[in-house]
Amino acid sequence: MEVFVLGSGVGIPNLNRHYPGLFVESEGRSFLIDPGPGSLRQLLKLGFTYNDVDSVILTHFHPDHCLDFVSFLFACRYPLVPREKGVLVVGPAGLKDFYGGLKSVFGTTVIPERFELTLKEVENSSIAIDKTELKIEPSAHTGNSISIRFKSASGKVLCYSGDTEYCANIVELAQGADLLILECSFPDGAEVKGHLTPSHAGRIAREAGAKKLVLVHLYPMCEDQGILSQCKKEFIGNTEIASDLMKVTI
Ligand SMILES: [Zn+2]
Ligand SMILES: [Zn+2]
Repeated sequence: MEVFVLGSGVGIPNLNRHYPGLFVESEGRSFLIDPGPGSLRQLLKLGFTYNDVDSVILTHFHPDHCLDFVSFLFACRYPLVPREKGVLVVGPAGLKDFYGGLKSVFGTTVIPERFELTLKEVENSSIAIDKTELKIEPSAHTGNSISIRFKSASGKVLCYSGDTEYCANIVELAQGADLLILECSFPDGAEVKGHLTPSHAGRIAREAGAKKLVLVHLYPMCEDQGILSQCKKEFIGNTEIASDLMKVTI
């Protein structure tokens, strides 16, 4: 399984950290996860195009996690490279209403012409997408937000928190993960409800027995705050602060 960080930042424009987004290739299928603004252009920098996306996963509907879904649908209508391959979109309760809202705002520009768009709302679910199993649990963020565990046919496990605060669900989903990607919005001492701090992230990684922890979704105030050492007080395992376009193979 190959995991690419499209952006390690948040919804605040930042020259050093792009808006959120992940791209995952597992068992010959690709997943575009939480495509924040500009994610499709970040994909190009990695050598992929929007046409390489098989599935889109939205963990919640905050703009920093989903605005490029609109760009994706619009690009797929480009008449010189029209998309014909279907797209599966997975998201929490409210996904269908969200897409209905997009249609009422953007009209035909977000309605596929030649391919099938399948919307799947999930909560406390396990689903198989080809040879990759997804386990989904609600995260503690908006009331309809999710965290996800991916397991490949070869048994490799990726867990991604989306946005969340510390909760039992993320600890459960992260059990034994080869790669655990957690949001880490604010430094210790500046905790904000609905988000993690470095020590919260470290605690989750320790309780889950994760093999590798990567921190994403860093607000600008995280810089120069020693968040890695704050995290390591709770988790002594392999930990990295994400950088844009980084790739992790598990
Ligand atoms: Zn966010
Ligand atoms: Zn959010």
